Amino acid sequence: MSFPAATPPSRLLMGPGPSQIHPQVLSALAAPTVGHLDPVFLRIMDELQSMLREVFGTTNPMTMAVSGTGSAGMETCVVNLVEPGDRVLCCVNGVFGGRMAEVAERAGAEVTRIERPFGEVFTAEEVREAVQRVRPKITGIVHAETSTGAWQPLQEISDVVHEADSLLLVDCVTSLGGVPVEVDKLGIDAAYSGTQKCLSCPPGLAPVTFGPRALEVMDRRTHKVCSWYLDIGLLRNYWGSNRAYHHTAPINMNYALHEALRLVLDEGLEQRYARHALHHRALRAGLAAMGIQYSGNPQYCLPMLNSVLIPEGADDAQVRSQLLQEFGIEIGGGLGPMKGRVWRIGLMGETARSSNVLLFLSALQQCLLRQGISLPAASATAAASVIYLES
Ligand SMILES: *Cc1c(COP(=O)(O)O)cnc(C)c1O
Repeated sequence: MSFPAATPPSRLLMGPGPSQIHPQVLSALAAPTVGHLDPVFLRIMDELQSMLREVFGTTNPMTMAVSGTGSAGMETCVVNLVEPGDRVLCCVNGVFGGRMAEVAERAGAEVTRIERPFGEVFTAEEVREAVQRVRPKITGIVHAETSTGAWQPLQEISDVVHEADSLLLVDCVTSLGGVPVEVDKLGIDAAYSGTQKCLSCPPGLAPVTFGPRALEVMDRRTHKVCSWYLDIGLLRNYWGSNRAYHHTAPINMNYALHEALRLVLDEGLEQRYARHALHHRALRAGLAAMGIQYSGNPQYCLPMLNSVLIPEGADDAQVRSQLLQEFGIEIGGGLGPMKGRVWRIGLMGETARSSNVLLFLSALQQCLLRQGISLPAASATAAASVIYLES
């Protein structure tokens, strides 16, 4: 039996990830595969680690790309820090905080959750009360909650977590490369990310970093890490100077991430953050002209993930399907309790460009008009253009 070749179309990815991929990153994927101990590959890994440290804002030697997507990064941090019976505090204000709690439970932790409504963030006071009461070994929190668009401030929370002698574990899957992630400055003990959000690389690797306090905790373990594949103690023998075989690194994905990080640093981190902020402002102005509101607390809205309320009378599935079929644009629907209530519009990495924002706004106008929804006379693209003109 013969099968047709897979011929995926070229989409405009404006959802919660994956994001648009730069052609240089796609070309890097197609470079010849070499062995995982080839000196050329070892050099690529060294450079990749150095670039990851810059993007994470850290000098942590233990900074690397785990094989697997963002969730593998989450699992790596959790299983290496948690031993059976350890207390873990998880701050849950969206789907991914909930996932972290689930992963910690499976790793044998005694998990306490504190919760905020979807779209809200935690205050340092709330976290202080919880860490003083629970005395957790680890406190986990999500920097950029992709399910709600909430941007969690971390500085004061880091202080209260450390006052209680707890380690701070941060989910930076969506924040890395889109807003500042300053691991050393914030005193983050362990962080993980993914490649397909603001780094604009295909999904498949999970950058992680562990600080000195986290390494100490790992060195003092009395139980083996419950995952062989994700055991940092074993992985560091390959990523470190020993170069001992552990598992075959996904060679071409590492090329791709190397190229994606080169593009991030060539652009400059500050410029990249400013670019995300600009296109967010333009999108927001365009949506406001259409009468579309954001779902979360406006003080804490992420630039790269715009969670907006579906206008009254609009059919969620039909609008998203028309955007995809007619315009080739993918946006995300709501997750968990937000299902059917919001659209999640991503402006991650390469997606954050004015051509994409303007095309999306006019396409969305088309879809809403098609459904008989009357829109304000003001043009959404004109409102966005004003922002661009002022910038
Ligand atoms: C996407 C995402 C994850 C999970 O990453 P996968 O690559 O889908 O495994 C975890 N946390 C956050 C905040 C995310 O946005």
